[in-house]
Amino acid sequence: MTQEAHVTQGPLTTEAGAPVADNQNSETAGVGGPVLVQDQLLLEKLAHFNRERIPERVVHARGAGAYGTFTVTADVTPYTRAAFLSEVGKETEVFLRFSTVAGNLGAADAVRDPRGFALKFYTEEGNYDLVGNNTPVFFIRDAIKFPDFIHTQKRDPYTGSQEADNVWDFWGLSPESTHQVTWLFGDRGIPASYRHMNGYGSHTYQWNNAAGEVFWVKYHFKTDQGIKNLTQGEANRIAGEDPDSHQRDLRQSIERGEFPSWTVQVQIMPAADAAGYRFNPFDLTKVWPHEDYPPIEIGRLELNRNPQNVFAEVEQSIFSPAHFVPGIGPSPDKMLQGRLFAYGDAHRYRVGINADHLPVNRPHATEARTNSRDGFLYDGRHGGAKNYEPNSFGGPQQTGRALWQATSADGPTGNHPTPVHAEDDDFVQAGTLYRLMPEEEKERLVAGLAGAIAPVSREEIAERAIGNFRKADADFGKRLEAAVQALRG
Ligand code: NDP
Repeated sequence: MTQEAHVTQGPLTTEAGAPVADNQNSETAGVGGPVLVQDQLLLEKLAHFNRERIPERVVHARGAGAYGTFTVTADVTPYTRAAFLSEVGKETEVFLRFSTVAGNLGAADAVRDPRGFALKFYTEEGNYDLVGNNTPVFFIRDAIKFPDFIHTQKRDPYTGSQEADNVWDFWGLSPESTHQVTWLFGDRGIPASYRHMNGYGSHTYQWNNAAGEVFWVKYHFKTDQGIKNLTQGEANRIAGEDPDSHQRDLRQSIERGEFPSWTVQVQIMPAADAAGYRFNPFDLTKVWPHEDYPPIEIGRLELNRNPQNVFAEVEQSIFSPAHFVPGIGPSPDKMLQGRLFAYGDAHRYRVGINADHLPVNRPHATEARTNSRDGFLYDGRHGGAKNYEPNSFGGPQQTGRALWQATSADGPTGNHPTPVHAEDDDFVQAGTLYRLMPEEEKERLVAGLAGAIAPVSREEIAERAIGNFRKADADFGKRLEAAVQALRG
C-alpha cells in the first residue's frame, strides 16, 4: 500500500481550533519592531516544535516497521493452547519492527550489528510480543551484565565515540560472548536488508497445552527471500551513500506489492528433557543443535502494509517480552527474566504510562479491560465505569487460570551462576559455527575480526580477545593471531 492522502477541509487553525489569519509573518510592535508575546500562533508553533522528540531507545533506536499477517500451517495444539495457534489456516494481524542495536536514531542501516526482530501478534486473547533478533544467541547470559555491555557498544564518556578498547575489553573478559561475536563477524553480521535475514526468538519460552503439559520452545523465522549479506566494503559504501537503505528497501518492496515473508519454525523440547540436556536449554549464548531438536514448520509470516506515520507507529510502537497470552510463558533464562522488566520500564519512561492505548500498541482483536486509570495523556476511554475489583457493577473478573504452567524451583536464594550442563562451556558452539563456515567466509571472518581488534591500545586486551577464539578452535585462533599481528606490526 502506498501513502494515503490525508486531506483536511477548511482553514488552518491553532491547536485550539481557532482560524489562523497569517502563517507567514509573526506579530510585531509596529512595522520592523520586536515580536509580541500575544502572538499565540508563533509561541504555540515554537513550543510544540521544541517537544517533537521523545527519548530515543537506548538500544534499538534506529528501526523500521510494517504490518502483516501470520498464518498457521501446522497443528501445534499438542504443544500449546494459544488461541491464535489453534487451527491450520488461522490468520492473525502482526506488526514487526526491525532495528539495528548500537546506533543512535539517525545512524546508518548498513552496519555490522545484530538486527532487532520485534513482532507483535494482535491475538484475540491479547497482544503477544516476541521480541527477538536476527541471531539465535546473544553476547551475555545474565541481564545484570546488560548495562555494562551496552556501555561498551555506545559512546565512550571521554571521547564521545565508540572505542575498540571498550568493546574488546568487555568481550575478552566475558568469554560467553565468543559465540555471538563469531556470528556477528561472519557473513550474516551485515544483512543486505531487513528482508534478507532470518529472525529468531532467541530465548527459550514455555508452551503449555490444554492438558497442562509443558514444552520448552525456540522460534525461528527463515527468510523466504533468501539470505543476502553485504561485505564490509559494500556496507561502508552504502552506509555513507544511503544511510536509510534498509528502511527504504522495506517500504518500497511493500509499495511494489512484493511482500516479504518468513517461514516460521519451532524447536520443541518436552519439559522432562531439560534437566538432562547436554546444554543448559535456558542459556541464551547457546543454540539447541538442529540434530537434537529438529525445527518443525508451523506458520508463515508476511508483511504487507506500511505504516502511514513513522513517528506514531514505529517510534511509539512498544514491545515487551512480558506480553504473553494463554498457553505461552517465560522460561528461567536469566536474560529473558531481566527483559521481562526492562522493556515495559523503558516504554513507561519513553512513551508514558498510557503507551498501551496508542493505536499501534493496543489490542486489535480484543480489548484491554483493566482497572488502571489516569496518568499523563489518559483519554478517558473507561468513562464512568467502576475502577476497582471485585465490584458489584458487572466489572471484568479474573479467570482463575494462569497463562503459563507453574514450574518448580528449590534451594537457597543467592547470586548463582547459570547452571552448567554436561557439554557447556563458553566456546564449544563458537567452534562449531567456525567449522561450518566455508573457507572464503572463514577468511572474511578472520579479516573482519583482525581489523576490529587491531586498533586496541593495550596488548593484553588484544591477546585476551584472541585467546577466546583460540579456545573455540585452534585454527581460528592461529589465523586470527597472525592477522592481528600483521596489522599491528
Ligand atoms: P546445522 O548444520 O543443523 O545448522 C547450521 C545453522 O547455521 C543453520 O541454521 C544455518 O542457517 C546457520 N548458518 C549457516 N551459516 C551461518 C553463518 N555464517 N552465520 C550464522 N549462521 C549460519 O547445525 P547446528 O544446529 O548443530 O548448529 C551449528 C551452529 O550453527 C551453531 O553453533 C550456531 O552457531 C549456528 N546456528 C544454529 C542454529 C540453531 O538453532 N541450531 C540457528 C542458526 C545458526 P540456514 O539454515 O538459514 O542456512
